[in-house]
Amino acid sequence: MLVIKDLNKSYDTGKSKLHVLKGINLSIDEGEFVSIMGSSGSGKSTLLNIIGILDEKDSGIYELDGIPIEHLSEIRAAEYRSKFLGFIFQSFNLIGYKTALENVALPLYYQNIPRKERNHRAMEYLEKVGLADWATHLPNEMSGGQKQRVAIARALITDPKVILADEPTGALDSKTTYDIMKLLQEINREGKTIIVVTHEPDVAAETKRNVILKDGVIESDEFITQRVLQ
Ligand code: ATP
Ligand code: MG
Repeated sequence: MLVIKDLNKSYDTGKSKLHVLKGINLSIDEGEFVSIMGSSGSGKSTLLNIIGILDEKDSGIYELDGIPIEHLSEIRAAEYRSKFLGFIFQSFNLIGYKTALENVALPLYYQNIPRKERNHRAMEYLEKVGLADWATHLPNEMSGGQKQRVAIARALITDPKVILADEPTGALDSKTTYDIMKLLQEINREGKTIIVVTHEPDVAAETKRNVILKDGVIESDEFITQRVLQ
């Protein structure tokens, strides 16, 4: 599904170069549920952004579904993102003036799918995340957990190969975190590959594989016994 070999990434910070990812090797198969942990600044988001084709590596190999991700035009990068990847963020990133249904339907708009079908499919995904009754509400009328469910429905609607989540529960209380992780576990059980960056050991324990980054290097990478939520 996803192969990373000897990947390096630096940022130019004016005077000096900051070497953020130092020879990362990571292969993730279809259906995996991987957590990435590590202290602040260790390079977690940078790695996730490269996987998500939101940022570019400097060197090494990155293949997504057998396709080398290399020197892509903005148009091609956007095409691959919409075809292969779904994103979930700590801050939900919903559009404030659009309803839950419109937010979920938005990725289909960019795929030129007619409005009727967009809305029909968006409703299906809102039902899937338990928010059918909230279709016409605006984000500011919803709780953090509800907003994250809308974001999850939006990430799923294009049926991406991989869901990438950067601190998806970072803004949520522990009960809501539990509910969101339970939902992600259900989605993973249905076969979706999920990669989640987290600071929370509890969240990592609810995935199936834990990668720890330290100063831009993979310090450990272990399959774990998943704590299944019911
Ligand atoms: P956190 O847990 O705080 O989110 P992180 O592990 O996600 O941290 P990154 O965001 O990947 O860390 O950042 C790694 C390092 O790269 C940090 O020192 C950060 O300041 C630096 N960095 C990240 N993005 C950029 C950028 N666009 N330009 C310059 N430096 C950057
Ligand atoms: Mg980060």
